[in-house]
This record gives sequence, structure tokens and C-alpha cells, in this order.
Amino acid sequence: MAAKIIDGKAIASSIRESLKKEAAELSARAGRPPCLSVILVGDDPASAIYVRMKGKACAETGFESRTFTMPAETTEDALLEKIDELNADESVDGILVQLPLPDHINESAVLERIRPDKDVDGFHPVNVGKLVIGEKTLIPCTPHGIIKMLEHEGVEVKGKRAVVIGRSNIVGKPVATLLLHRHATVTICHSRTQDLPAVSREADILIAAVGRPEMVTAEFVKEGAVVIDVGVNRLPDGKLVGDVKFDEVSRVASKITPVPGGVGPMTITMLLYNTLQAFRDHVNA
Ligand code: NAP
Repeated sequence: MAAKIIDGKAIASSIRESLKKEAAELSARAGRPPCLSVILVGDDPASAIYVRMKGKACAETGFESRTFTMPAETTEDALLEKIDELNADESVDGILVQLPLPDHINESAVLERIRPDKDVDGFHPVNVGKLVIGEKTLIPCTPHGIIKMLEHEGVEVKGKRAVVIGRSNIVGKPVATLLLHRHATVTICHSRTQDLPAVSREADILIAAVGRPEMVTAEFVKEGAVVIDVGVNRLPDGKLVGDVKFDEVSRVASKITPVPGGVGPMTITMLLYNTLQAFRDHVNA
């Protein structure tokens, strides 16, 4: 039977509606809207598009957004100074430095400079640590969006076998941690995993966050598994595909996310969610 397609766009849009409502109520009480500041260093066209999308999402949800564009030759010190300024600005709730940064800038030093309570990407080591020990924190957006999708779809996580392919700090490790906190039995796979199809076939919930076009074929998937495709890969002909071979896997899985229209729309939505969470804490609402 064909899998049910998980509509990330629709889920994201319903979450955004409730964020918009709550933002309006809180803004009226606090006397200012939630505010996200985004710093873009250099002129990478893809990064510029992402930053524009974030600004647009803020505007549509009743948030203020401020974008600071700095030239590619900006020094690390100048960037850190800008972060210090935004850290000190009481009207700023969230600070996001668009990645990747130019090679001469140390990414860790930059991410660690952002005040943890304004770290809406959830990449600061303090927030990563809190996530691991299960304390309330700002959770990285893509993994958080995946959990929200599973909740929305009524997918039972407790006691299930989850396999995450990919161990990056931004997707693989945090999504595995979140699934573990929800009592899944979690396996994390990577480029050195032996017999990946066999390990993946153990999954009731399979998360692919690899960055390799259509690598996950039907051979990787147990009948009835829920498959979440995080990958965003551009083929030479310009077509956008995920890490999962959608046509064949959707004949085996029970539920599956498409690319585009699956995990992608959830990521910016969870950035708004985190900005509102930071705002709530800052205005003590
Ligand atoms: P990443 O940092 O490049 O990590 C990729 C992971 O996949 C690594 O752990 C790597 O293993 C593993 N891997 C690579 N080749 C493999 C193979 N042949 N077999 C098994 N594992 C393999 O990527 P990422 O940042 O996590 O992103 C993953 C994908 O998600 C990308 O396509 C990215 O564009 C997409 N993404 C989408 C969103 C969204 O909002 N939709 C957000 C973030 C990322 P090693 O650790 O051993 O190298």
C-alpha cells in the first residue's frame, strides 16, 4: 500500500498560525514584538535566500526581524563585536549567524559568543549540553521540527526502534537525542557503519540526514516504517531530491516526508518557535 505523505507545509502553516496568535497577545502585553536578528557574512547566494526567507517568515508572523549584512572580508573580531552589541540589546530576543562563514572566521568562537538565551539555532555548547541532559533549552530547529511532525502525525515513539543516518551536530545527533528522551531505542549510523541497509531495516522510524541524493532505497526500509527525509540535494539537471528514493520507498513505508515540502518548511517554523520562546523568557510572560 502507498505510504501516507506527511505534509510538512501544512503542519508548518498550522504551527505558524498559533505562533502568530501568541506573538500578537504577548506583544500587546510586552509593548514590543519578538525580535530576531540575523547576521549574514559574505555573499553566498544560497545563504542570502535563506536569510530573506527568515525575514519574510518573521514579517508574516508578526515578529520584528533585523538583518545585518557584513562583507566577506569582515574580521572575526568585527563579527564578535556585532554579536556583543546584539547580546546587550534588550530589544533583541534571538540572534542567528547564517552558516557557513568565510574560512578565516572560527565558527565555534562565533557560535559560543551568542548569549545562550538568545541562541535560537540551539548551537551554543550550553544549549547542546542542556539538550543532552534533558533540561529545557532552545532546541536546534530541524530536529525539533522532525519531532513536531511525528507528534502531529500521531507516530508512537516510545519503545520503538529509531535509526538515524547521519551524526552531524545540527541534525543527526540532536534528533537522536530527542528520540531517546521520548524513549525510542536509537541507533546512529554514519559513513563507517557496516551493512547500513540491514541496520536501517531494523527501524520503525527511519531518519535520513546524509546529504546523498536518493541513497536510501527500498532495501533500507522495513515494511510499515515511518521515513523522515532531511536531505536536500540538487541534481545536475536542477531537480531537488532528498536522501530517500521517494518512489520506491513510499511503496514500503507507512508514512513518508516528501522533498521538497517535508522537513524543510518545519525548520524556519521552529526558528520562529524558538524566537517566541526566547521572547517569552525575556519579557517574563
Ligand atoms: P553533514 O554534516 O554533511 O552530515 C552528513 C552525515 O551523513 C555524516 O554524519 C556522514 O557520516 C553521514 N554520511 C555521509 N555519507 C554516508 C554514507 N554513504 N552512509 C552513511 N552515512 C553517511 O550533513 P547535515 O548538515 O547533517 O545535513 C544532512 C542533509 O540534510 C543535507 O542534505 C542537508 O542539506 C540537509 N539539511 C536539511 C535541512 C532542512 O531544513 N530541510 C536542515 C539541515 C540539513 P560521517 O560523520 O562519518 O562523515
